[in-house]
Amino acid sequence: MHIGVIGGGQLAQMMALAGYPLGLKVTCLEPTVACSAGLVTDVIVGEYDDIRQLKQLADQTDVLTYEFENISYETLAQLDRQHQFTPKRLYPTTAALRISQDRLQEKQFFEALQIPTTRYLPIDSLLDLQAAITQIGLPAILKTRRFGYDGKGQQPLTSPEDLSAVWATLENQACLLENKVSFDREISCIGVRNIQGEIRFYALTENQHKSGILHLSRVTAQQDPMTALAQTYVTRILTQLDYVGVLTVEFFEQAGQLIANEIAPRVHNSGHWTIEGADTSQFENHLRAICGLPLGATETRGQVAMLNLVGEIPPLEKMLSIPNIHVHLYGKTPRARRKLGHVTICAASQEMLNQRLTALLKII
Ligand code: AMP
Repeated sequence: MHIGVIGGGQLAQMMALAGYPLGLKVTCLEPTVACSAGLVTDVIVGEYDDIRQLKQLADQTDVLTYEFENISYETLAQLDRQHQFTPKRLYPTTAALRISQDRLQEKQFFEALQIPTTRYLPIDSLLDLQAAITQIGLPAILKTRRFGYDGKGQQPLTSPEDLSAVWATLENQACLLENKVSFDREISCIGVRNIQGEIRFYALTENQHKSGILHLSRVTAQQDPMTALAQTYVTRILTQLDYVGVLTVEFFEQAGQLIANEIAPRVHNSGHWTIEGADTSQFENHLRAICGLPLGATETRGQVAMLNLVGEIPPLEKMLSIPNIHVHLYGKTPRARRKLGHVTICAASQEMLNQRLTALLKII
C-alpha cells in the first residue's frame, strides 16, 4: 500500500522508515523538499491546505494521514466531503483533528466523556481575564486556543498585577485560562486502534519538559498504578471518535487522579522510545492501523528512556560510546528550541538505565 502523509517532518520520516520492511511506501506533502521526511520519501511540494496538492497526494496514494494537528480542518473536511475517499481513507478522522486544534473544544470533549480535566474558562478580552482569575485562582496559565505547541502560545500567571502585560502578549487571540496543576507526574498514554476496532496500548510514559518542550520520557513499569485508569479514559476517546491510528493523551497525575491535559491525534514524541523499546513501534502500528492490518504487540523490551536533542547535537562519537544507545537525527539545521533528534536508551535494569542516562546527560 501507498500512504500519503500531510507534513514532512521527523514523524513522517519515522513512519516511512517503519513502512519500508513491510513494503508500505510513504509520500509526503510539505512546502519544501528539504525536510526530514524528504531524506527517505518522495515529497509533493505544496502548502498543507492547498486543496489541489492534497488531491494530488490523495490520487497518488491509497490512504492519507497527517503528522501534526495544525493543518486546516476545513480543507481536509472539504476534501473528505468531495468523496475523494470512498471507502473512507483519511485517518485519523477529521473530528479528532477538529477537537485537538481547539483547546476549548478539547476541554468540552473531555467533560462530555467524564474525563477529569483542568478548571478552565474561555478568554476573549482583558475583562474576561480579570473576571476569570477570581474563579480559577492563581497560579494559572493563559493559553491560546489554537496553534499552541511546545510551550508556544502560553503564559504563566502568578500575580494579579501581571494580567495586562500577559494579555498584551497574546492579545487578539481567543484564549483559555487554566488553573496551574501542581502535579506529581506528567504521563502520556499512547493507544492505537485499527479499522477493525482492535485496540492496543503502550506502557505509560512519564515525561519531563524543559521550557515547555519535551526533554525526557521514561517508560513506566507495565504495572504502573495509573495504567488501568489511563487506558479506560483513552478507550472512551478512541471509541467515541471511531478513531483509527495512534492517539496520544497527556495527563497530569495528582494525588492518585488523572487530569487530562491534551490530545494528539497522531504518533507522539513521548512514544519515540517504541522504535527500539517495544515489540512494534508506534510508527509501524499507526501504519498497520490505517491500512487495516492486524496490530503488532506493544510490550516493552526491558527498561527504556528517551531523551530529545533540542537546539544542538552533541558529538556523535561521544553519544555512541555509551552502550545500548540509539541515536536518531532528523537532518535539520540546528536552531534554538528546535527538535533535532532523539536518543533512546535501553537497559536490562533500572540501575543500568540510570547509569547510561547520566553518561548521556553529561555529554548534552
Ligand atoms: P501543553 O502545550 O498544554 O501540553 O503544555 C506544555 C507543558 O506546560 C505541559 O506538558 C506542562 O508541563 C505545562 N502545563 C501546561 N498546562 C499546565 C497546567 N494547567 N498546569 C500545570 N502545568 C501545565
